[in-house]
Amino acid sequence: MEKIKKPRGTMDILPGESELWIYVESKMRDVASRFGFSEVRTPTFEELGLFKRGVGDTTDVVQKEMYTFSDRDGTIFALRPEGTASTVRAIIENGRTSDPMPLKYYYIINCFRYEKPQAGRSREFFQFGVEMFGAKNAAADFSVISLADTLLRELGIKGIKLHVNSIGCPECRPAYREKLVQYLTANKESLCDTCKARLEANPLRILDCKNPECKVIAEAAPKSIDHLCGECESHMTTLKAMLDAAGIDYEIDTHIVRGLDYYTRTVFEFICEGIGAQSTVCGGGRYDGLMEQLGGPSQPGIGFGMGITRLLMAMEQSGAYIPEPKKPVLYIASLGERACVEANRITTELRRDGIMAECDVMGRSLKAQMKYADKIGARFVLMVGDSEIESGKATLKDMTNSTQSEIELSAVANHIKNSI
Ligand code: ATP
Ligand code: MG
Repeated sequence: MEKIKKPRGTMDILPGESELWIYVESKMRDVASRFGFSEVRTPTFEELGLFKRGVGDTTDVVQKEMYTFSDRDGTIFALRPEGTASTVRAIIENGRTSDPMPLKYYYIINCFRYEKPQAGRSREFFQFGVEMFGAKNAAADFSVISLADTLLRELGIKGIKLHVNSIGCPECRPAYREKLVQYLTANKESLCDTCKARLEANPLRILDCKNPECKVIAEAAPKSIDHLCGECESHMTTLKAMLDAAGIDYEIDTHIVRGLDYYTRTVFEFICEGIGAQSTVCGGGRYDGLMEQLGGPSQPGIGFGMGITRLLMAMEQSGAYIPEPKKPVLYIASLGERACVEANRITTELRRDGIMAECDVMGRSLKAQMKYADKIGARFVLMVGDSEIESGKATLKDMTNSTQSEIELSAVANHIKNSI
C-alpha cells in the first residue's frame, strides 16, 4: 500500500532527537523564569483578523504565508504564524493589563507559515518567544536582549552576533520614511518586483531584501538611525551603554528593520553566520503601538522570537553540549514466569523511587536479554531464574567495571538506590 508522508515543510522529532529539544526547552524555561517571565499558552489558531491587525496587512507573513481555513460555520481562522498577536489578544481579553506592570510572558510554540522549505525554514516551525508590556524604558529592551544573550551563552553557542538598529517612532519616522521613499523611487528601476510593490506599502522592508541589486540600493539609502528624534536618540544611547556595561557585543546594523508598522525604536537580531542562508536565530524589537492596535490600552511592548531549529543548527556548529539519551540504572534479565514477576516487582519499586529501571517485556532468551541490556547501556544487570527465586539470591553485575556480586533479591532495590 502507498505510504502516507508528512506534509511538506514539517518535521518529525523522534527519540534520539527529542532529548535535545527537551533539554533546550528546559533551558528556555529556566532562563526565562530567572528573568521573571512566566509562560503563556494560547490557541494554535485564531481568527484571521487578529493576524491581519496584529502582524500587519502589508507583511509577507499575512499576504503570502498564512495558513487559513474556514470553520463549519464560516468563520475564517488562521494557524498562528507567530506568537505576539495571540499573546496581546490574551492579555487584553483576560484583563491582564490591570496586573502590576510590567507583564512578562514567554512561550514555546509551533508556528505555521506557507514558505519554501529549505535549511532553517519550514512550514511548521518552533519558536521560543518573550514579551514584555508596560515598560517604555531602554532597560526593558536591555533585559529582553540580555535574556536571549544569556540563553545563547548557556547553550554554548559561539559565533553569534547581536545586530541592533533603531527605526524611530511616530514622531520621527514619517519624515524619515518620506526621505527613504524619495530615494527608493529615484532608484525604482533597479529594485526587484517584490520591492517595487513594497515601495508604497512597506518601504522600510526594502532595506532588508536579500536580492543583490536591492542590497546595493539599500546600502546607500538614508538610514533611520540618522533621523531619530531626541527621545529615540537617547533611548538608543542608554541601551548601548547597558549593552557595553554588561559585555554584550553588538553592532549597529541599519538594514535591520522588522518592517511592521507597529515596531518602534529598537529592533534587533542575533545572527549566526555559520548556519547558512537562514542565519537569523532570533529577531525582536519594540512595539509600542501594538496593544492599542489590537483594541487594548496603550502600553509599550518589547519582545523577540527565536527559531528553535536554527538555534539547534547554531549549537551543532558550535560543538555545544548535546544531551545523551537516558540510560537505565538497572536491567533485570529474567527467565521463567516467577522470575518475570519478581523482575517487575523490583523495577516497579525502583521506578516509584524515581530510578530508571528496565526488565524484559519481549520474552527473549537470557543471552538476547544480556545483549539488549548492553545496547541500552544499563549500569547494573541482575539475572533472575527459577533457582534464584528458590534461593532468594541473584547475581548483580556492575557493567562499568564488570564485577559481580551475590545479592538478596529483597535487598536489590535498596542496594541500587544506595549505589547511585
Ligand atoms: P526570516 O527573515 O528568516 O523570514 P522573519 O523575519 O520572517 O525571519 P520572525 O517573524 O521575526 O522571522 O520570526 C522570528 C524567528 O523565527 C526568526 O528569526 C527565525 O529564527 C524563526 N523563523 C521564522 N520563520 C521561520 C520558518 N519558516 N522556519 C523556521 N524558523 C523560522
Ligand atoms: Mg519570514
